[in-house]
Amino acid sequence: MRRYVIAGNWKMNMTPAATRKFITELAPMVAGKDKCDIVLCVPYVDLAAAIEAAKGTNIKIGAENVHFEKSGAYTGEISAEMLSEIGTEYVIIGHSERRQYFGETDATVNLRTKAALAAGLKVILCLGEVKDERLAGITDEVVAMQTKLDLAGIEKEDLKNVIIAYEPVWAIGTGLTATPEQADETCGVIRKTVAALYGEDAAEAMIIQYGGSMNDGNAKELLAKVNVDGGLIGGASLKTDKFTAIVDAANA
Ligand code: PEP
Repeated sequence: MRRYVIAGNWKMNMTPAATRKFITELAPMVAGKDKCDIVLCVPYVDLAAAIEAAKGTNIKIGAENVHFEKSGAYTGEISAEMLSEIGTEYVIIGHSERRQYFGETDATVNLRTKAALAAGLKVILCLGEVKDERLAGITDEVVAMQTKLDLAGIEKEDLKNVIIAYEPVWAIGTGLTATPEQADETCGVIRKTVAALYGEDAAEAMIIQYGGSMNDGNAKELLAKVNVDGGLIGGASLKTDKFTAIVDAANA
């Protein structure tokens, strides 16, 4: 049986002081809600505060990106070893905002994923179609291709540390949400692709989240779908009550 994973993506929001306050407020609200894993992915400078504040709670902490080289002349970048040494457990890779604004490609997403896994991090690997691709009816081909390219060369035994977040780009931060049926269908295409690459057992075990304007009003219906194993949540992860309501939907 797959476990739900409810993960927040704070993007470029919150200072370290705001991080401490948020997690101190959130922790009692989600305490004991153990039918899902709860993750907050925060900006690099907030990681230390988040890890400290989350100690002894059921909240796990992740970063929002990682570089693929171990070290070297990459000004402004952060390595997987740096993240894991301070106690970071998860890392988002391939978010559409990184792909759209910072030139990330399936090739760099693949390299980052390998580097993160080698350092013992759990990866939340984001992929999804843009609006024109959905309108052109090529969503299935696009997500299948991204799945293949992003996972290329990754060993089956490492898949237990990979979560795929299906995030239709047209639904991120727009208030537009995929219907539960669209989310289920496309997460199902990703699962079939994983089955073709690694076998049915790996596909059955793979956690596939939906992300794209998931909120307290739509989480229950989305999470009820058989292929949707959780959510990657942007805007609604910045409010403790809204994020808790999504955790509640996963615990119902
Ligand atoms: C995200 O940042 O991954 C996301 C899904 O954002 P939002 O929930 O705001 O659409």
